[in-house]
Amino acid sequence: MKVKLLSAWVAMMLAACAHAGGPDPEWEYEGEKGSRSWGKLDPLFKTCGIGKRQSPINIEEREAERGGLKPIPFSYKAGPGEILNNGHTIQVNLTNSGSARFDGLEYRLVQFHFHTPSEEKINGMASHMVVHLVHRAGDTKLGVVAVLIKLGKENAALKPVFDNLPSIEGKTVALASFNPGDLLPSDPTYFAYIGSLTTPPCTEDVKWQVMKTPIEISYAQLATFKKLYKMNARHTQATNGRRVQMMMPDAVGAGSSAPASAAPAAPTGKHSNH
Ligand SMILES: [Zn+2]
Repeated sequence: MKVKLLSAWVAMMLAACAHAGGPDPEWEYEGEKGSRSWGKLDPLFKTCGIGKRQSPINIEEREAERGGLKPIPFSYKAGPGEILNNGHTIQVNLTNSGSARFDGLEYRLVQFHFHTPSEEKINGMASHMVVHLVHRAGDTKLGVVAVLIKLGKENAALKPVFDNLPSIEGKTVALASFNPGDLLPSDPTYFAYIGSLTTPPCTEDVKWQVMKTPIEISYAQLATFKKLYKMNARHTQATNGRRVQMMMPDAVGAGSSAPASAAPAAPTGKHSNH
């Protein structure tokens, strides 16, 4: 009895910690409380159902507007972190890992987390996973950098995270030092658009930057994550005529020596080979 009471208390405290600051109705990715029903689960979540600038989206590369964007100035640095199983994903909270500038405004990196498969699609294709690097400017402005992840070599930078995934909701594992710069692909090409949080309450006016080139993880690393979260991706949302911009480094767009990516896209875009 005592044990039962204690575990109920622990569960309550964990819930309070995870959702401090207000009521947080339960939601899931599939089933009755799945992503297609979020908007109806609670008045707090109504934007998930009626919002017109929701995320994720499918990005059609050929339709993206070229010009006007520069490479993102990243100022990431190594700092301590905390790996958290928050009940919907694995999230790494960071306290001193630097910042990035979006549209000239500095946003501080506060956490990154994972989805499988990737929530965003490019030319209709999802990747095996995505990491969302979440940034804040002031109290309300949010900017997210999405880095797609495909199967390939073991990811050495993510090894200390994937080797220590907390299996129980609410649990944390300390991470002595992590440099989020190690999660960025070397190709600075990205797409930018205005969207939302991809989890309830689906708040809008989030600046999204989706890197075009994926990074890699091994099958074993993906499997480790999937043991905890088999599927934690929201379905793609209507773009409703939103502007999607694309930043291409000059060398790729203009150079004749550029590799495969400079060749015309395969007509069907059937396979993603980069
Ligand atoms: Zn996310």
